[in-house]
Amino acid sequence: MSMMDTKQLIEQTFQELAKDPTLLADISEAEREKFLDSAEEILTTTDKVIKSYIRVTRDNGSVIRIPAYRVQHSNVSGFYKGGIRFSENVNEDEVENLAFLMTLKNALHELPYGGAKGGVGIQPRDFSDRELYSISKKYVQRFSPDLGPTHDIPAPDVGTSARVMDWMVGEYKTIHPGDQYLNAFTGKSVENGGALGRREATGRGTFLSYFWLLNSWLDQKMSQSQEDLPKIMQHKQWNTLDELRQKHSASDPIDVAIQGFGNVGSVVAKEAFDASKINHRVIGVSDRYTTLYHPNGLNIPKLIQYTDKHIDLPKTEQDLLEAGIEATIYPPEDVLTLDAEVLFLAAIENQVHEGNMEDIKASILVEGANAPVNAQADKYLQDKGALVIPDILVNAGGVIVSYLEWKQAKITRIYSEKEVHEEMAKQLIQTYQKVYDAYFYGESQSMRKVCYTLALKRLITLLHRLGKLY
Ligand code: NAD
Repeated sequence: MSMMDTKQLIEQTFQELAKDPTLLADISEAEREKFLDSAEEILTTTDKVIKSYIRVTRDNGSVIRIPAYRVQHSNVSGFYKGGIRFSENVNEDEVENLAFLMTLKNALHELPYGGAKGGVGIQPRDFSDRELYSISKKYVQRFSPDLGPTHDIPAPDVGTSARVMDWMVGEYKTIHPGDQYLNAFTGKSVENGGALGRREATGRGTFLSYFWLLNSWLDQKMSQSQEDLPKIMQHKQWNTLDELRQKHSASDPIDVAIQGFGNVGSVVAKEAFDASKINHRVIGVSDRYTTLYHPNGLNIPKLIQYTDKHIDLPKTEQDLLEAGIEATIYPPEDVLTLDAEVLFLAAIENQVHEGNMEDIKASILVEGANAPVNAQADKYLQDKGALVIPDILVNAGGVIVSYLEWKQAKITRIYSEKEVHEEMAKQLIQTYQKVYDAYFYGESQSMRKVCYTLALKRLITLLHRLGKLY
């Protein structure tokens, strides 16, 4: 989904919301029309785009100038919140789109945050630790007037980690002596006030979105609503789920492929590998250089051990030998078209598009990454009967645990990993329940549309209550 796709979907959702009499029901029809126009204007425009250049001296003495961004889309539902990514593909449009998605995600999950995002245009692996440290500090120096624990709170994203957040907090503390500094950033190391389980949170939540649907939600529907069952059974995607479930009943493992083997993808892979209640087989994983494939399943713990040391997945037969892994090596994009039933997308944007959508074999696609399926592919896959579980629904585990980390710095009590995980799962499941029910019982062909509708309803209601619509 590009920036244009996101805006278009918001506009379409507004057109449908205009026909929903339950929204802003306490005002006259004429006023309601005006208020909705005003809400649309507010939510389809960005509050602030800040672009700067970071100058760093490289280890060889040369000086380079790197573009850096912080985009604050909306703080209607709370302080601005969103990750900072280090990637050579970073550009203003991408960062702005990701900031929009953060606003929608936080509203959908009813977190007290708005939406923001940051980016630095570098490929981090081309820089030494000293250079990365310097870039991280300079990012904070440039953007610090617009950051802060009750204003805009960054977290890690692609190419950044707890180490980068620790460096950034350190610099924030120097710039703002005496101020609260720990909860100015989340996703920090545990030693530095980070929440236990934050690193795994997004991957765990992503897997849970799919696993809970296939297990608990389906069980609930089968047992509860015999009257309603015929209605849900007419839903095209119900058959998709039912087929998978029947496969599980026959004790045949469900084949899973995962694009991206970083923070999110490696945790999804481990969750799928460990899922014993329903037998899964991870037949393919990939990163920016390689796809690894084995029809009988890959040994994920060994691959995690290998990437902990080398970052990338094994790229050669020699690497496979070192990792103790049996697999065939394919080009990175091949992971998308493997003969898997479930495809987790956990890398970057726009990976499934017009060029490859017809070759996708998976019947369930789960967007652990932000915006990995473009608008045309989204529609094509859903018309075909595939189920696309959207980013703003599934990848909120990280921001939910970031909220716990932010709270933990205020109450000076460390949540245990069990508490963190249980709280995250509880909050996610509340939203999964709402969205899955609305999707399977409703008319909308797209689960993404259902999510946008719920998120925008909340934001419009908040704008109204805050007296911002006229
Ligand atoms: P990461 O940097 O830890 O890992 C990214 C992975 O994607 C790596 O394995 C990398 O090799 C791979 N990759 C990069 N470019 C690729 C390409 N062109 N083709 C195939 N693979 C490619 O990043 P992450 O934190 O795991 O984030 C992954 C996605 O999840 C991003 O879209 C991010 O915005 C989203 N996300 C992350 C979090 C979080 O808490 N980290 C939270 C919400 C959403």
